[in-house]
Amino acid sequence: MVESNFTIILFYKYVQIENPEQLRDKQRALTQKLGLKGRVIVATEGINATLEGTEENIEEYIREFLKDPRFEGTHIKKSAGTGNAFPKLSVKFRSELVAYRLGEDDVKPWNLTGQYLQAEELHDWIHSGKKFYIVDFRNDFEQQVGFFEGSILTKMEHSQDLPKVISKLKHIPEDATIVTVCTGGVRCEKGSGYLLKHGFKNVYQLHGGIVTYMEKYPNEDFKGVLYTFDNRLVMGFNLEDPKREIVGKCAKCGRPSENMINCTDHFCHRHFIACLDCLKGQNSIFCPMGCRDYSQEHPESLTLTH
Ligand SMILES: [Zn+2]
Ligand SMILES: [Zn+2]
Repeated sequence: MVESNFTIILFYKYVQIENPEQLRDKQRALTQKLGLKGRVIVATEGINATLEGTEENIEEYIREFLKDPRFEGTHIKKSAGTGNAFPKLSVKFRSELVAYRLGEDDVKPWNLTGQYLQAEELHDWIHSGKKFYIVDFRNDFEQQVGFFEGSILTKMEHSQDLPKVISKLKHIPEDATIVTVCTGGVRCEKGSGYLLKHGFKNVYQLHGGIVTYMEKYPNEDFKGVLYTFDNRLVMGFNLEDPKREIVGKCAKCGRPSENMINCTDHFCHRHFIACLDCLKGQNSIFCPMGCRDYSQEHPESLTLTH
């Protein structure tokens, strides 16, 4: 039997797209032809995608994608797949690549964004004792299982909380050096621009995101595991490494755990950590944000959905 190897790719590019519907249709045809699964978002401000397919088909996708001059130089991050990372393919037009919904306060990364900082440079900065701040632009549940040591965890519920982040950075002088981080880099493009717009003067963004940093320096400065938006849920790097630390804590008992689950409440579905001991014998589990068992009134909520 021939074993097929699967690859997962993650990439984005902020660039003005004149006919996004046309690009969406082209992307849909290409991904369908190659049997890829995952998610592609097309907007007038660019493209953001995460896809899985056989190594061969992913390579062909990349070749086709990069032929388009608008996407020249796009940084494409690859990782090993299983063939099961995504249940289906979705290619959609959206108004924004990341739903920040800043309205009048919106920033376009081609006008304003933080300077790129390579993983190697950030590694040097951390280990040389340079004074700077790392601001993490991921959501709270992602930050629960992994983070850069000493970073500012913004604990956003969702991307629309970006304006609230500014108030969490009040203690940082405007001329201090800031490095923004997120999973693959896309959230930092506008996030770092937003910090510049709001008075910070020396803002950098980690190029290629935490994925790239973790590949180069596994289990060093980023503690724990990296949350991913696919069926893997978390991505570990060298899980056997004795240096590896578990930073996540079970929401029920507080013991170290990286086991991510969904709140049973249909209207919540928050991700949180619950250890296997606390899940034993349970057919429903509710997040610590105030969800509780309404199954008496709504018996349908008993179905475990994750
Ligand atoms: Zn527990
Ligand atoms: Zn909940």
